[in-house]
Amino acid sequence: MRVVMVGTGYVGLVSGACFADFGHDVVCVDKDLFKIETLNSGSIPIYEPGLRELVAKNVEANRLTFTADLIEAMKGADAVFIGVGTPSRRGDGHADLTYVYGAAEEIGENLAKSNSKFTVVVTKSTVPVGTGDEVEAIITKHVEASRFAVASNPEFLREGAAIIDFKRPDRVVVGTEDEKAQDVIRALYRPLFINETPILFTSRRTSELIKYAGNAFLATKITFINEMADLCEAVGANVQEVARGIGLDKRIGPKFLHAGPGYGGSCFPKDTLALSRTAAENNAPLTIVDAVIAANNQRKSNMADKIIKTLDGDVCGKKIAFLGLSFKPNTDDMRDAPSLTIIPRLQKAGATIQAYDPQAMKEAEKLLSDITYKAEVYDCVKGADALVILTEWDEFRALDLGRIKKLLKTPIMVDLRNIYRPEIMKEQGFIYTNIGRPV
Ligand code: NAD
Repeated sequence: MRVVMVGTGYVGLVSGACFADFGHDVVCVDKDLFKIETLNSGSIPIYEPGLRELVAKNVEANRLTFTADLIEAMKGADAVFIGVGTPSRRGDGHADLTYVYGAAEEIGENLAKSNSKFTVVVTKSTVPVGTGDEVEAIITKHVEASRFAVASNPEFLREGAAIIDFKRPDRVVVGTEDEKAQDVIRALYRPLFINETPILFTSRRTSELIKYAGNAFLATKITFINEMADLCEAVGANVQEVARGIGLDKRIGPKFLHAGPGYGGSCFPKDTLALSRTAAENNAPLTIVDAVIAANNQRKSNMADKIIKTLDGDVCGKKIAFLGLSFKPNTDDMRDAPSLTIIPRLQKAGATIQAYDPQAMKEAEKLLSDITYKAEVYDCVKGADALVILTEWDEFRALDLGRIKKLLKTPIMVDLRNIYRPEIMKEQGFIYTNIGRPV
């Protein structure tokens, strides 16, 4: 199959490389010339474990190419995926569909120019219900309806585990009632049938909603356990044990029950907001999702308060070391990371910040100011009045605590990911704060 991926970001690049690895011919297209040049020179513009090797292998096998030229890329394509960004629109929180509609317009124009065969246009971007209808209307302005079909195929991969998620998904959701389109998409995902991956065919609108409903549910689960952690702190219970106690119930399940500083990232914050807007517009308010959004926003600033409280209520003139800046480990993605709320609040209260992240410092530099970046953990901790663990990168899980204690001016650790055990920290002589566990 010949596949075009429009948008070569976290989703487009991973999906393109994985489809190529399935044996398809893939062309990844992006408007960002720097990204295309970077890829064509053998580098990868983002950090995602295993991606460099996967891309190199498929480029070498001539199954994966990169270009900014959509016309050329679309020649003979069986499927054109739209994998462009759908950020929050400034002001109202709706999904900004400028890039999706822009891509649809270009795809329509190029379909009209070529006399190619039937092409399936597949929206992989996360888009509000009804976007597929609009994409179809845009393309219909350029070519007759028999030449193409528009399907929805939301992506569920997680950054940091994107390749395995793409190749071993829990399910593939495909929204189209067009049989020819179903056949093309079935053929694209055929390698997954060996693992008996369920492929769920639905209407386009249902498929679009499945993606948002899934993310909203997961965001709710996280927020639930985060609030439970606050209650644990108030009553002297242990949130990790509560999570285990409820997670062993198969109706609940153990995943997404790790209390922390609030969810961030490129999906949950914007997708919960966009879903809430869609619901409000359709007079079917999602009050639970609204409460989740509000609680999560509040939580991030509460984390700054927690740090200030641990430092006796005053961080003015204090130096605070941060380990981890990205919204989760194994990614350099800084979009809506809790660090973007917590650090500026501490700076406003007079603290100076030094930080280390294994991959995200380059991205962080664009979004946070007045931070002293350090090249490694122990240099970051040196001379600080407190250490905050904000992202649970593996390399922070086995720190030399004796060395950390010596390097810190005062032995204060705020562990916002609960990666250390309170009793051990106490034994080691730390003033230790965490999320929802008695110290
Ligand atoms: P991204 O910002 O990393 O990448 C989007 C890319 O699209 C950019 O490189 C941009 O230059 C390019 N682009 C925009 N308009 C274009 C056009 N007309 N032609 C060619 N390229 C164009 O975004 P992402 O994180 O990959 O997310 C893409 C979509 O997938 C979003 O809707 C997101 O919600 C969804 N999604 C993301 C994840 C994730 O973990 N990042 C997971 C599941 C779904």
